[in-house]
This record gives sequence, structure tokens and C-alpha cells, in this order.
Amino acid sequence: MNATTSATPTTLPSGADFGSLPLSPAVLANLQQLGYERMTPIQAASLPLALAGKDLIAQAKTGSGKTAAFALPLLANLNPRRFAVQALVLCPTRELAEQVTQEIRRLARAEDNIKILTLCGGTTMRPQTASLAHGAHIVVGTPGRILDHLSKQTLSLEALNTLVLDEADRMLDMGFAEDIAEVVRQCPAQRQTLLFSATYPEGVTKLASRFMRNPQEVKLTERHAATTIRQRFIEVKENERLHAVGLLLAHYRPVSTLAFCNTKQQCRELVAVLQAQGFVALELHGDLDQRDRDQVLVQFANRSCSVLVATDVAARGLDIAQLEAVINVDITPDAEVHTHRVGRTGRTGQDSQGERSGWAFSLASLDDMERVARIDTMQGSDSVWQPLADLTGATDAGSEPLRPPMVTLQILGGRKEKIRPGDVLGALTKDLGFDAAQIGKISVNEFSTYVAVDRDIAAQALQRLNAGRVKGKSVKVRLL
Ligand code: ADP
Ligand code: MG
Repeated sequence: MNATTSATPTTLPSGADFGSLPLSPAVLANLQQLGYERMTPIQAASLPLALAGKDLIAQAKTGSGKTAAFALPLLANLNPRRFAVQALVLCPTRELAEQVTQEIRRLARAEDNIKILTLCGGTTMRPQTASLAHGAHIVVGTPGRILDHLSKQTLSLEALNTLVLDEADRMLDMGFAEDIAEVVRQCPAQRQTLLFSATYPEGVTKLASRFMRNPQEVKLTERHAATTIRQRFIEVKENERLHAVGLLLAHYRPVSTLAFCNTKQQCRELVAVLQAQGFVALELHGDLDQRDRDQVLVQFANRSCSVLVATDVAARGLDIAQLEAVINVDITPDAEVHTHRVGRTGRTGQDSQGERSGWAFSLASLDDMERVARIDTMQGSDSVWQPLADLTGATDAGSEPLRPPMVTLQILGGRKEKIRPGDVLGALTKDLGFDAAQIGKISVNEFSTYVAVDRDIAAQALQRLNAGRVKGKSVKVRLL
């Protein structure tokens, strides 16, 4: 099946009502509570097949609602009274596994007492083993750690009825093919297998053919209409490329920008240039340890970092809302990848016509023109060009430097200390007298809590929090 949808922002209601699916009234009520009024295109295309028990290969871009497209079928296959692992979701990274776990938790609220466990590397096995011993219905994890538990026999997949491979393309990129095959060998032959991917390289078909039974294929290759995402190409000489990024930022002043480079080296150089120009820019790359990676993502998501610079591999699968702009610092040789990059923006923020909109800028040198031609062909329209000299934002009289609206404070202490977002909000508003409107996103990680506050109150909030208490205890706080 091939469907080409129009430019509907994919997290927005688009297709049929969930009521048309064979779901229980409790599940439907919960979906309504979550604000899921209509299915996204990938959900509308895959849920009827998956709920009918078919194996499925589904491809749709990041942010299109793939998690619910496999979570609802795996929950439908579940018997909550049976205390055994009945569903396994394999994900490429810990943070994706955690995102998926959270989403399944929300979707599982309709049913009492469904236990979901996240099993990833980077932490010791013992607490995971203890949790497994207590029984879990659903396990979400990375292939390596799942294999560790299988070989130690602390995890059994004998009762499994649903296997999900999420972000299959990325798992292949990360070299997980053989680990996945080994996990599959330990699953019962009689099961439903669901494979989800943002792109559809040949490797995914090969992987699927190894262990899926007559899989149905659902592909949503989207085109973005010019009204949703305004794309501009800017011709640059090679030695103007990095400088042009700062000009774009100063001119268009997007609050959150994702900048794609083709290489890690280019990412590093761009971040250095931007930081030297006074922008708050951070790099997301594979060599970061988990804690640094979490910190980068938290700061970007809570709007205290203007620009996140990444390669395609590093950015794959991130669910980042509120992206005003994407900048293709380098043009990718793969037109499909370009469409993906560009599709990251335009999901939030409304323009004057009430349309959701975003910017996508691409910096192209003469050597890139062949790549641009391929992108034009793929998108079925001619690229729109703008001269570099038109970007005058940086030199306009009275123009302020672009600064993120928020600043992140790190509180040492997190889930381990049983801190919850409400505790921090309470401390800042009730105890310390700040206005709730000045407090942004609060993210509680294992050992740290990150709270975004208005730039104007950052210094004050830091000082008062350090002198005050959270959950009755004094805390150490620092500015990130
Ligand atoms: P993907 O896995 O395709 O990148 P996600 O499953 O992470 O996308 O979903 C992206 C966001 O859209 C999530 O915040 C999710 O809660 C939301 N979402 C998913 N389906 C719907 C829906 N039908 N209606 C409204 N929001 C939805
Ligand atoms: Mg996903």
C-alpha cells in the first residue's frame, strides 16, 4: 500500500476517528482524554491491519505517531491477568526506549495494572533483574541489554505474542542486525511482528524478510506543501557556509532551530562558530555519554538552547516539538533524507492565517546543484532561492542578539530522591514567590532535575533555590 498524504502536520488530527477501530470503550475514552481525537495518517493506515493480527512493515517520518500505531495493537494482544512478558519493543537507544515506554504507559492507562519495564544498557543489571522477577507484561529495551538478560535467563520470551522493532533503520545503522536476529530466535514462532521505520533503506526489507510472515507494507512518503513549510535555498560559496548560518538566525530569529550537517567535523566547527558569535548552540553527537546527551536534549526541548547541531544519524527519532526552523548547513546527497530533515519543522507554531508553519533553509554551493536538482525532482517543485545579501537581520539598527527565552537550572537530585515536577514547581511558586508563568518545562531524570525558567529571573531563581528547600530538603542548584 502506498499513500501520499498532503501537508497535514502529522501530529494533527487528519484521518478517521479511532471509533472506527475494534477498540474497547475504555481504550477509546482514554484516547479521548489524551487528546487523540483522530488518527494520524500512519495510524489510519496501519492500525486496522495490525489490530487484525497481521505482521506489518510501516514507514513514516518522525513525529507521525508511530508509537501508538504499534502500542495499541500490542496492548490489544495483552492478557493483564497473565504475569509474563507478552510484548517486547526493541529500540535503538535508551532515550527512545524511555520515550516509547512513556507513551505506552499513557496508552495503557485504560487498563489497570499493566507493568511495563525499560531495559537498557548504561546501568547495572541487578535492579532490572529484580524488577523482572516481580513480573512485567511489556518490555521495552535496546537489543544489547535484552540479549544480556536472555543469556542470563533473567528474561524469558516464552509467552511473547507481539514483537516490535521500532526505528528499525536506525538500529541497522547502529549495527544491531545480528543482535536483533538473536533476540528473534528466542521468540516464539507464533507471534505478531511489527516493524516501524522512519526511512526505508534496503537493509530494512532484508531484515524484515528474515523473520516476518507475509508482512503488509504501509508507507507514507509525505510531501510538504509550500504553505506549511517555507523552504528557501541560499547560494553560498564554500567559505561562506558556516557564517551564513548565523546570518539566517539573526535575520529570521527562530526560537528553536535544528541545523543538519553531513559530518561530525562540520557539526563541531559550526558550533564553535555560532558560540563565538554569541548564539546558544549545542552539538548532539554519538560520542556524548548519556548524561551529556540528556542535558543537551533537555536544554533544547525547554527552549534554553537556540540551535541544536546534528548529523542525520544523531537526530534520527528525536521527538522534538516546537521547531521553528531547520537549516540544511550541508545539502544531503539523498533527496529522501532532505525531505525528512525539512519535515522536522512546520509541526508547531501558527502563523497569521492559523496555519502551522516553519522555515527550512538550505545552504547550497555550486557543487551542490546536482543534489538540489534531485531534491527538486523528489519534491515535484522548483526550489525557491534567496540571495545571501538579503539577510540583513544582524546589521539592522537596534537588533538584539538572538537569545533563547529560557535558562536551564540543574538541581542535583532526581527520581532517585523521589523528586517530582510538582515539588519543584511548588518550591518556586509557593515558597519562593515566582509566577508559574515564569517557569518552563521541568524534567526529572534519574539523578538530576532540570527546570527551565525565564531568562529574566534565572539569577534570582538560582540564588533562592540554593537557599531554599525542595521537598523539605536543601538542594544544590547550578546554571547549565
Ligand atoms: P513517531 O514515533 O512517529 O516519531 P510519536 O509516536 O513519538 O511519533 O508521536 C509524536 C507525538 O504525537 C507524540 O507526542 C504523541 O503523543 C502525539 N500523537 C500521536 N498520535 C496522536 C493522535 N492521533 N492525536 C494527537 N496526538 C498524537
Ligand atoms: Mg518513534
